[in-house]
Amino acid sequence: MKELLMAYQGEMALKGLNRITFENVVMKTIKYRMQAHGKFKVYKAQSTIYIEPLNEDCNMDSAYEALQKVFGLASLSRAAVCEKDFAEIAKTAVPYLENELRAAKTFKVESKRSDKTFQMNSMEISRELGGVLLQAYPHLKVDVHNPDCTVMVEVRDYGAYVHPDKVKGAGGMPVSTSGKASVMLSGGIDSPVAAWMMAKRGLSLQGIHFASPPYTSERAKQKVITLANKLAPWTGRFNLYIVPFTEPQVYIRDHGVPDLFTVLMRRSMMRVAEKLSRENGADALITGESLAQVASQTLKAIVCTDAAQELPVLRPLIGFDKVEITDIARRIDTFETSILPYEDCCTIFTPPHPKTKPSLEEILAAEAAMPELAALEEKVAQECEVVFIGSGLGLGSKRNKQKEEN
Ligand code: ATP
Ligand code: MG
Repeated sequence: MKELLMAYQGEMALKGLNRITFENVVMKTIKYRMQAHGKFKVYKAQSTIYIEPLNEDCNMDSAYEALQKVFGLASLSRAAVCEKDFAEIAKTAVPYLENELRAAKTFKVESKRSDKTFQMNSMEISRELGGVLLQAYPHLKVDVHNPDCTVMVEVRDYGAYVHPDKVKGAGGMPVSTSGKASVMLSGGIDSPVAAWMMAKRGLSLQGIHFASPPYTSERAKQKVITLANKLAPWTGRFNLYIVPFTEPQVYIRDHGVPDLFTVLMRRSMMRVAEKLSRENGADALITGESLAQVASQTLKAIVCTDAAQELPVLRPLIGFDKVEITDIARRIDTFETSILPYEDCCTIFTPPHPKTKPSLEEILAAEAAMPELAALEEKVAQECEVVFIGSGLGLGSKRNKQKEEN
């Protein structure tokens, strides 16, 4: 029996004349991502995208799973294809839906006929097929309001398709249609969720992680690389910049005001992130901050952090509770990695009594007493390591940014 995958667009459908651009991006993404699962033909007809396996070697299970991570798709189905002939439709539906129908007590048939030359109308298809299925599975009852299983039949231009209920797609907008931003990735629970949420709104990403060896370990860095790779099936490939942040951080510890340490350090990170963003065409920063979660995320602290540089800072989690964030982290499978107990550079050198309501004046005064900080920030932005995420090379290949430029 021949199967294929079908994808239906969501918000993209609202885009009027731009819709074609969005569709082209999502088709390109699907084509690219399907390569890992076999040879597929990807085409569009009647505002549905068809993903058709070209040979027996295609892995339909893993392809369907991958498709569920493509942003921009509202719903999906995995369907059996047959000729546009009622006898063929019935012959296909009975065995194809066996698992779903045996597990159900009630069902209904929903038909759509966009090929108006088909001899039966959709009411007739539903009624007749309902009868055939009741005969094949006598335990079933019809329930048109709240069935356990909905059998769907679509008679379209290229053929007839039979499938169980559509499943929800990843939603959102196709990655890259909203531009590019830098996500500041710590090893925590929040920032991977923030990355996922902004990719869902159509941003393509680059990651920036600050590491302070030897105060932070190689394991902590590998954890961030693992998290980034877990995001890649949703976000597509991206570069992760690992900034060797020890020198600026030690300098701030030794020359800054202890109670302001965290905000001073976060401002320094933002400035480095701004440089790496401008160099690589990213127009905003993304963080996993949530209002009042910790001392550095009070409104006053955020005001100070925002004033450090000029790119907009997107904080998709700002109004989320930890429980809500954790739910998403579990859903996107980053949670278990995030809770591994390795140190982050944000957690070293933290003062016992961080100031929760810093003023910008005192922050600027503290920075005026650190004349060498700007040069250190410049230096670490140049010395960062680039890791390719989602390139299929395990943990990613590495290169030195400077070497790459020379
Ligand atoms: P998370 O769970 O994402 O680590 P958090 O609640 O621990 O967040 P902070 O440590 O204050 O909060 O960090 C706030 C945000 O700053 C993070 O969500 C992340 O975007 C950024 N950030 C923190 N540490 C780093 C780091 N080492 N490298 C890159 N970005 C970082
Ligand atoms: Mg953190």
